[in-house]
Amino acid sequence: MPGAGTDKTKDWIEEPGPVVILVEPQLGENIGAAARAMANFGLSRLRLVRPRQPWPNDRARIMASGADRILDGVALYDSLEGAIADCSFVLATTARAHDQAKPVVGPAEAAALAAPRIAAGETVGVVFGRERNGLENDEVALADRIVTLPVNPAFASLNLAQAVVIVAYEWFKLASGAKLPFVMPAKSAPAPKQQLLAFFASLERELEKVEFFRPPDKRETMQINLRNIVTRMAPSQQDIQTLHGVIMAIAEGRKGPARGGVLDGPEAEILRALLAEQDTVRGPKERGPMRGLARFLRRNPTEAERALWQALVNDRRFAGCGFKRQTPVGQHICDFVSFPLRLVIDVVPADETAAAAAARGQKRAWLEAHNYKVLGIIAGDIESDMAAALERIGGAIG
Ligand code: SAH
Repeated sequence: MPGAGTDKTKDWIEEPGPVVILVEPQLGENIGAAARAMANFGLSRLRLVRPRQPWPNDRARIMASGADRILDGVALYDSLEGAIADCSFVLATTARAHDQAKPVVGPAEAAALAAPRIAAGETVGVVFGRERNGLENDEVALADRIVTLPVNPAFASLNLAQAVVIVAYEWFKLASGAKLPFVMPAKSAPAPKQQLLAFFASLERELEKVEFFRPPDKRETMQINLRNIVTRMAPSQQDIQTLHGVIMAIAEGRKGPARGGVLDGPEAEILRALLAEQDTVRGPKERGPMRGLARFLRRNPTEAERALWQALVNDRRFAGCGFKRQTPVGQHICDFVSFPLRLVIDVVPADETAAAAAARGQKRAWLEAHNYKVLGIIAGDIESDMAAALERIGGAIG
């Protein structure tokens, strides 16, 4: 992403800061990279003493990556003396010991020395040397302090722009109070203790059910340990809701469709038969438990139902018909219904009780009175000739 991290909607930091002075820089690239580093860390004034390439410089502009206002503001000088003329305090950066009676400081101390002077309205200059051979002794002699970086003594010399970035960084860290530009977004408030305690109560209740707290004399320690694990996470309200959901999902078992029910085929047949007999005797107020049982049935299909459903959802003829399984239509639960087609498919067990058959008849009458087409398919037919069963459904769709 070009320009990532650059935000033109934000104000450019224009606090006063030290002046950066590059003595005879050889590469435009380094000047551009130094300008970019200055912009990153809130410095704006760049002075060049006799740059070795013509100025302005395209390579510098490319490396500045948008820190144009710094390049546009560059001031050129013929001598270092000229470049520091208005400075009341000058720091000379160098990787080498120049053997001069001049205090040596690190970059953080350099920032600390500059800050009160700049706050008092003085001009502070930080001088950087040539890429190849740094600053001459007489140039260092013009400074109030030597600044050197803590480095690997066997490889002490940094790239010019990288030396600028470290000095600029230390300056900005001090001047800005080291405040970071963004923090982790607070998505949900920390969970209050009341919510935590309720969570522990339900967690422990579920664990009791599976006799997790064994042996009994360890119970208290185990509970304290568990509570401490969660408390150490400093969870948010959302975290606790999620964990609670996870525990209840594990405790209550899966809610998925079709496979994974707890009834085997014959048990599912019996449940279906019982529900079929009950179908119409339920008044509207009693639909709650019926719906619950229908959901249970949905998870526990008989073999015929499972086979027909699989065939139905995998057959292109029925794509988009919106068939649903074990769904209430009015006060009746239908095996398969397509609301868009107003079509109900009733899987009829061959050896149905008289009560169930009567209830089925009433259901059918109600559905037809309410404009549903009802297609009864004998369970055995599905198992013996699926193609024919599908053919009939196709015919009912028209
Ligand atoms: N070979 C040169 C180093 C030039 S690097 C020499 O021996 O001096 C270009 C400039 O980056 C240096 O003049 C200095 O201003 C700065 N610089 C590089 N490494 C530095 C360090 N370890 N400490 C302070 N300034 C450093």
